[in-house]
Amino acid sequence: MFGSYHIGRVFGIPVKIHITLIIVLPILALQIAAAMRIESLLWGLVAAIGLFASVALHELGHSVVALSKGVRVRQILLLPIGGLAQLDRMPEDASDEIHIAIAGPIVSLGLALFFYVLVALFGSAQPGLIVTLFGVLFGMNLILALFNLLPSFPMDGGRVFRAWLTPRIGRVAATRIAAKTGRYMAMALGLWGLLQASLLTLAVAVFIYMAAGAEYRMVVFEDHMRRRRNPFFGFESDGMEAPNEPDDNEEETIRVSPPPYARSRRPDSPHTTQWWAQLLQRPKELFDGLFKKWSGKR
Ligand code: ZN
Repeated sequence: MFGSYHIGRVFGIPVKIHITLIIVLPILALQIAAAMRIESLLWGLVAAIGLFASVALHELGHSVVALSKGVRVRQILLLPIGGLAQLDRMPEDASDEIHIAIAGPIVSLGLALFFYVLVALFGSAQPGLIVTLFGVLFGMNLILALFNLLPSFPMDGGRVFRAWLTPRIGRVAATRIAAKTGRYMAMALGLWGLLQASLLTLAVAVFIYMAAGAEYRMVVFEDHMRRRRNPFFGFESDGMEAPNEPDDNEEETIRVSPPPYARSRRPDSPHTTQWWAQLLQRPKELFDGLFKKWSGKR
């Protein structure tokens, strides 16, 4: 991945850190230090690293369960907006998908409990820096777990919610609802970020908004490809509309706009968790194109 650095390997899974996170880390360290009401930037940095180690463990939770379901995990990537476990595919079986999705928040809840116990054991009226750090990590892991349990895309809870809705209203409609709640949530978060003047919150909000939409478009696309391959459904000649969507004028007409994932190796099975990789890939394509131009290779 462009601009990411390999920092280790766990269970054979490469763990990488994106350059933007390295850039943002000192800023985050300052913010955490301020929130912890401590002067030392070093402790802020330790807390920031602890936060991203927690995020990595959350992703590792997804990854280990995915491996146990026979799904290959390509890498875990840490970004300023969070972590991503890049799975080769999502299992067909809905209960497998739920298990993979729920594993991350369970790890985060476990970590929160762990740090809570440490605070309870070593806490005092005048807690030292280490206990304060435990407290911060407790809070961060709890937020990480609860935030990811929200029933909207692209959070883990969104996957569980969709799996629960799918037998009732179909996968496409279920995804649409989970994606829509994700978008509303992103807008609320974005507004909050504006009020707080927090760039990072704004970035997360934009990410969630785009991710929710991308997830929906991908399911529509998958559904369409599945129907195309199924002779009993026949071919839809014009057909990029969501095939089993009820006609609903209130809804924006969602079309599969030139799907970036369609350019990946197997257009009929886009990697469910890989749209973001394509997103990050774009600057690379741009750079590569420019480089070729400058170096006169074409
Ligand atoms: Zn997760």
